[in-house]
Amino acid sequence: MTGRSDNVHDVIIIGAGANGINQLHRIRQAGFVVVALEAGAGVGGAWYWNRYPGARLDSECYSYAYTPEFSAEVSTLWEWEEEFADQPTLEAYFNFVIDRLDLRRSIVFNSRVVSARWDEPTRTWRITTEDGATYESRHVVAATGILSVPFVPDYPGIQDFGGTILHTANWPAEGIDLAGRRVIVIGVGSTGIQVIQTIASKVEHLTVLQRTPNWATPLNNYRYSEERKAEVKAQAADIMRLTGSTRSCFVRDRRSESTWDVTDEERMAILQDLYAAPGLSLYSGGFDDLLTDAAANREVTNFLSAKIAERVHDPETARKLTPHHPFATKRPPMETGYYEVYNRPNVSLVHLPEEPIVRFVENGVETTEGFYEADMIVVATGFDAITGSFLHLGVEGTDGVTLRDWWEDGPRTYLGVFAHHFPNLFILGGPQGVNGNHPRCADFASDWIARAITRLRETGVSRIEVSDEFEDEWIEYCNSFVAGTLLEDAVAWQWGSNIPGKKRRYMLYIGPQPTFRLKLEEVLASDFGGFDVEEERASSRETDHARA
Ligand code: NAP
Repeated sequence: MTGRSDNVHDVIIIGAGANGINQLHRIRQAGFVVVALEAGAGVGGAWYWNRYPGARLDSECYSYAYTPEFSAEVSTLWEWEEEFADQPTLEAYFNFVIDRLDLRRSIVFNSRVVSARWDEPTRTWRITTEDGATYESRHVVAATGILSVPFVPDYPGIQDFGGTILHTANWPAEGIDLAGRRVIVIGVGSTGIQVIQTIASKVEHLTVLQRTPNWATPLNNYRYSEERKAEVKAQAADIMRLTGSTRSCFVRDRRSESTWDVTDEERMAILQDLYAAPGLSLYSGGFDDLLTDAAANREVTNFLSAKIAERVHDPETARKLTPHHPFATKRPPMETGYYEVYNRPNVSLVHLPEEPIVRFVENGVETTEGFYEADMIVVATGFDAITGSFLHLGVEGTDGVTLRDWWEDGPRTYLGVFAHHFPNLFILGGPQGVNGNHPRCADFASDWIARAITRLRETGVSRIEVSDEFEDEWIEYCNSFVAGTLLEDAVAWQWGSNIPGKKRRYMLYIGPQPTFRLKLEEVLASDFGGFDVEEERASSRETDHARA
């Protein structure tokens, strides 16, 4: 074969976000020659790109961080200052981690992968980056994230807007001075809400273009005292054990009782406690039947509607801000003073279902009912989620089948890690696997992938591929957790509903993460039983290399 690369590695990791860093450390510790290719100029993935005003975590820092098992040194030395860190802190954390663990030298920055092709004769992946560099490896781990391809709707006249227009995931590192500006924000998901509540007091005028209001609940962030900092460190190992036992690796699990097992007074008190608790508590710590019983879910939405009505002075604005979908069928955003923003005289809410956008013009946006002037438009319209970043890698497997072809009707994986036609490719933190408190869930999968690749090396396996029957079984299993729940009717990025033309498929595994991990362990325990496994042949890869 011709055109071999000088950059030959045992393993290539694509992406140096939270998961890619985790995988890089584990693979390097296992003694492999490894490189991570990162599109950005720095590490952190979502926390590198999303520098918009107000970007902040909504899992508790100590549950999101790397575990003492991953690195006792990092765990001991790093100090969190508050329950939910902001973007600059998280970016600093990931830089701290790669420097302490000496990972920086194994990362190639500004290296966006544009093609990854399986070469059957040599059992290798051949990777090309945007700048034309080529790499080869026996194994590839794709850790490109589920929320990394920004989506900008194709509005009529969008190119005619004369001011600054920016998707939140492309915010410049040097920031933007918003003082005195007339700003439009489009989108009220987790991102839009963080932007809106942060910039409302800084801009001259803020117009929010809202398509679907969301059930936002208080983040209840707080700064740590010295005692709390010490406590967080002392409890690190316990917290990690706890998050390893819960359904989605959050610090809270759903309550074991149903909505109807308690009296009305008890229910209100529980909802109030969860509303006052940090982060995603109302979702992750809610009643058992939250997503299976419409009436139970209505107890929560009635409770939240009353909160919106209390907090927003103008009843008409409160009406527009009150969603109609069941709670948590769209991912609930966290807020800090979000609803009060609409009491400000410099903030207007435009409810798009009642006055759709007609076109963008040089100095603003026209709707069917009016004109909204702006010199800046912030596009907080989300991402081509879950599959988007993997499809953009230009992956081509056996028989010329591309991942884009293979996933045309929705993602197909076994355990969220393997895909038929793509031997020796491991997906970390993509569809149908890791889900919930993401880096914590992915930590287990990353550890497993490192052990799996080690086992393959030890047993002289050069090629491993899963069958499409295994994929079918896994997809059916993933779907079984959604069937009969309120999620079935959701309009949400988890279904791909936010991207025009994307097939409607539920793309996540929402069963218990401990069960998912047991299934991964069964694969190793059975030595990849049922997989198509080939041992190193006489014409080994090394021999081929020598001949090339
Ligand atoms: P998102 O949840 O998909 O929200 C996008 C918003 O844009 C929605 O309000 C959506 O309305 C609106 N939109 C989309 N297309 C539109 C169109 N053509 N016209 C008008 N409005 C349109 O995206 P996101 O807010 O970036 O959040 C994505 C995910 O990232 C979150 O769910 C969360 O998992 C994660 N995130 C986490 C944090 C954190 O604190 N840790 C922060 C930010 C994001 P519809 O609802 O009608 O589609």
